[in-house]
Amino acid sequence: MHTLIIGGGAAGMAAAIACARKGDRVTVVERGRKPMKKLGVTGNGRGNLLNAGAPCYYGDQPFALDVLRHMPYENIAAFLRSCGIALTLEDEGRIYPASFLAASAVDALMNTAQELGVSFVLSTRVTHIEPGFAVHAVQTLFAPDTVLKSGRVKPGAPIGEQETVLKADRVIVAAGGAASPAHLTDGTAYEMLTAFGHELVAPRPALCALTAEKAPIEGLSGQRARAALILDGQFASQGEILFADDGVSGIAAMQLARFVKPGSRLVIDLREAIMGEEARMDVDAWLASRPARRMSSLLTGAASPQLSNALLRMARIRPDTAPDAASIHALAQVIRRFEVSVTGTRGFEAAQVTAGGISCAQFDPATMESRLCPGLHAAGEILNVDGACGGFNLMFAFACGLLCAQ
Ligand SMILES: Cc1cc2nc3c(=O)[nH]c(=O)nc-3n(C[C@H](O)[C@H](O)[C@H](O)COP(=O)(O)OP(=O)(O)OC[C@H]3O[C@@H](n4cnc5c(N)ncnc54)[C@H](O)[C@@H]3O)c2cc1C
Repeated sequence: MHTLIIGGGAAGMAAAIACARKGDRVTVVERGRKPMKKLGVTGNGRGNLLNAGAPCYYGDQPFALDVLRHMPYENIAAFLRSCGIALTLEDEGRIYPASFLAASAVDALMNTAQELGVSFVLSTRVTHIEPGFAVHAVQTLFAPDTVLKSGRVKPGAPIGEQETVLKADRVIVAAGGAASPAHLTDGTAYEMLTAFGHELVAPRPALCALTAEKAPIEGLSGQRARAALILDGQFASQGEILFADDGVSGIAAMQLARFVKPGSRLVIDLREAIMGEEARMDVDAWLASRPARRMSSLLTGAASPQLSNALLRMARIRPDTAPDAASIHALAQVIRRFEVSVTGTRGFEAAQVTAGGISCAQFDPATMESRLCPGLHAAGEILNVDGACGGFNLMFAFACGLLCAQ
């Protein structure tokens, strides 16, 4: 059985190793010059590989939960350990390589695949798949690498392209979504599956910074805060935010990107950031108890001057006035509800994950096989599943990849 895997990311590598262990002859066709470029930068280079807590998925959520019933967290962790990756548990169920280096997970998966005899066809972009299967691709050719005086290797420049066709008994499409085109995932791979009749749910950026109307956030760029967020009165998120020139970033804001629509409004509750351990107190009473002769200094010691100025500006309070009940109440309102109009997200270039993708409706969650074309499988982010931040996206990719071998 010759299994051909399109995409050498998390899902593709898990599939390659699992299929090779089962006895298949395995070829991975990867668009980049090396596999797993994205995996190497995940979790800020630390690689948040899995999450041991309750699964948190969007899109075709029941399908994602079925996948994880067939390939539970414990089995995926055991697979990673079997490849030599020592794991460690951090807050909120997040699992990292014990080295806290995503690169060490990349090396371990690569060594395992090579020891099993998996073949790699690199710098090769699959264009389409013919039933049967004939996989059509374009390979980029490079001049030889040069070794510099410093000993550093300078990769050869591209010098041409060559069309190629690879035959296989089984094909696994694990070519990622539309997020982060810098990692060669730009949404062009969907066509490989839509050509077989699989539906595409419109892709949009997820886990991405939000862009916002400038006025409320002016002067706040670079300010961090712990906050509770509510988008459009229904989608909640909590944690660190980072104000930027063009909007709001940080994990808590990024988690909301998948829900953004035209006219979205974001309410930022800044009580925790400003009141700390006293955040449960009545904000008016807390402000009234603070020692200050001017509104401008009421938040000194609790908020940065930039944040204090922005809050006073939004509450329409003159900084040089003395605190009175009306001004304190207006400021308290803004601390509880710092409201910004969201204009969108920073787009796929800045997104970590894709919401939307190929509908899971026509795939079997036990094997990831297409119900429209026997022998064709899909795995990972190319599918209409996106997970919360915290290791859920890589976990889904690994789970799908492993199921392809069953
Ligand atoms: C900066 C960043 C940080 C992240 N951090 C985390 C984290 O800590 N934890 C977490 O769970 N998730 C994280 N994610 C998300 C996670 O990396 C992805 O969801 C996951 O890698 C998806 O795995 P995949 O195998 O489906 O696709 P990918 O890892 O995207 O791999 C797809 C592969 O297919 C190749 N390819 C694409 N098109 C073709 C083609 N036509 N022919 C051949 N090959 C092709 C690509 O080059 C790529 O190597 C992060 C993402 C980014 C961008």
